[in-house]
This record gives sequence, structure tokens and C-alpha cells, in this order.
Amino acid sequence: MTPQGLYCSPGDFYIDPPGAVARAVVTHGHADHARPGHGHALATPETLDTMRHRFGADGVPNGQALPYGESLTIKDVTLRFAPAGHVLGSAQAVLEYDGQRIVVSGDYKRRADPTCTPFEVVTCDVFITEATFGLPVFRHPDASAEIAKVLRARAASPERCVFVGVYALGKAQRVMTLLRQAGYDAPLYIHGALEGLCALYERYGIALGELRAATGASEDELRGQIVLAPPSAARDRWARRLPDPVIAVASGWMGVRARARQRGAELPLTISDHADWDELTRTIRDVQAREIWVTHGREDALIHYAASLGMTARALSLIGREEEGE
Ligand SMILES: [Zn+2]
Ligand SMILES: [Zn+2]
Repeated sequence: MTPQGLYCSPGDFYIDPPGAVARAVVTHGHADHARPGHGHALATPETLDTMRHRFGADGVPNGQALPYGESLTIKDVTLRFAPAGHVLGSAQAVLEYDGQRIVVSGDYKRRADPTCTPFEVVTCDVFITEATFGLPVFRHPDASAEIAKVLRARAASPERCVFVGVYALGKAQRVMTLLRQAGYDAPLYIHGALEGLCALYERYGIALGELRAATGASEDELRGQIVLAPPSAARDRWARRLPDPVIAVASGWMGVRARARQRGAELPLTISDHADWDELTRTIRDVQAREIWVTHGREDALIHYAASLGMTARALSLIGREEEGE
């Protein structure tokens, strides 16, 4: 750990540094991991495209794409990306040096998600894991049961619309594919902030079905429809034309009643792109590491759990990880 973030000295690069550095390895495009202005950024092609979309080409002046599974030697370190199952392009960084393997998980989940490549278990000596939902109370329900609530709310109130608050990267597209899997094939109305990333997902072959701009649609047109937008848009001028919206929010935190209330969610949907307690502990068992380092989230319970399995475990306490896309 350095003040600039997690640093790999034999390779001379940072992993997900919170500020601009000379050489960065970026696990995925969420704002708490991907920053603009690095001298050189190494990431999967999907993550680099996400960063270019968010920061402009100038924000990613020297991006190098490394697809899943391909290896690259950086000084004395061999690096490859393994899928993390979190959002499109999300990766674990697999580092090999001097006969040892360290895996930096980035953010991850183990549940099925057709919008990204599933998490790959990579056995290692040291596993550096997130722990956003690292408490036994966090057990995410089945996402399709949460989506059924949206469809029920829509059917129950044909004069209203259902507003679903979603983060633009990952959650939006996952909710769309969950709706499609549930058989909902009507157009989905979207806020302008989602357009670019939805188009990017479609360019990578993730079918989202028909999307229409919600901005400019009349109140009558939106009756009985599902509208997806960033959660904050529910309180904007933008939302004033929506026909008496049922406010839903899709987030891993919606199982916590106080958070749901704070977000103004009439219909909280616990849909998470992070591992819950069972997924975290299962992963710690699967990777068979000697040491576990916990980067961010609720570290204590997970450290206690890893120690109970005979692993050495410690907290890295990374700062600046206000989760995006939870
Ligand atoms: Zn993330
Ligand atoms: Zn994160």
C-alpha cells in the first residue's frame, strides 16, 4: 500500500489507483476504480472503451487493451486478466512473480449475469478481495424474484409508470436483461445518461431489446411503461413529467431498510453486482490462498472467517472507495 494506492513494485504499476499515476492497471470502469489521466492504462478492451466513453479520448491517452486470458510481461511480473462477473469487461488482475501468484479481485460476484463473462476461480498464494457486503447479514435474494416485483407493480398501476433507479454502468443493463428474461418485451424508456453505455454493451453483443428515449416522451406515452434512469433523477426536474411514478431502486443496499428509505425507494429491489457473504466466503475457500488481504468494505467478519480456515488475513483499508454500481 502506498499513498497513491495499491502498488506492485516489481512491475512498477498501480492497481485501480484513486488518482492519476504513470502506469495503472484498471480492473473495471466504475468511478471508484477507473480514473482519468493515467500516463498509461492497462485494462480489458471493454473497460478501456468504458473509460473512453466516460472520460473522453483525452482522459485515456495511452490505453493498452489486454483481453481476458492473454498474458503480458511487465518488467519481472506476468499479468493476465480473469473475468470477475461484476460488469462488462470487469477483471481480476492475476500477477505472477518469483514463483508466486497474487490475484487482485477488483469487484466481483458469483451469480449468473448475461451482461458479462462469469467469474473465474484462479487459485493463488495471496487473494486480495473486496468485501462490500462482507457481513453474514448480507444474503442477496434471487434477482429474478426482485424483477417480478417491477412487473407486478406495472400491472397493478396501468395509469402510472415504474421508475427504476439504476447505475448507468452494469446495473442498468443487468436490469434490462432480467426484464427480458422475465418475458417483458415492450420498449424500455431510458434516461439520456444511460444511452452511451447501453450502446457500448450492444456493440459487445449484449442484446437489451428495444430502448427508447424517455426524455421528450409525453406523459401519456409513459403510462404503464418502465423507465430506467440514474437513481438521483427521481428527484430532478426531469422526473416531473413522469405519470405518478412508482419509485424503485435496484441496489445491493436495498435490503437495508434505512438505505431504501434514504433513497426514497417505494419499491426497493435488492439486485447487487457485488458478492454477498456466501459468495465471498465461497470464493475465499475456492481460491485456496495462503493469505487474504481485504481492500474495502466490511473487513472484520471476512478476516475472522479467513483466519478460522487457517489463512493469514489482513485489511488494506483502501480509502476513496465509495462504491459505485453497488
Ligand atoms: Zn464496481
Ligand atoms: Zn468498487
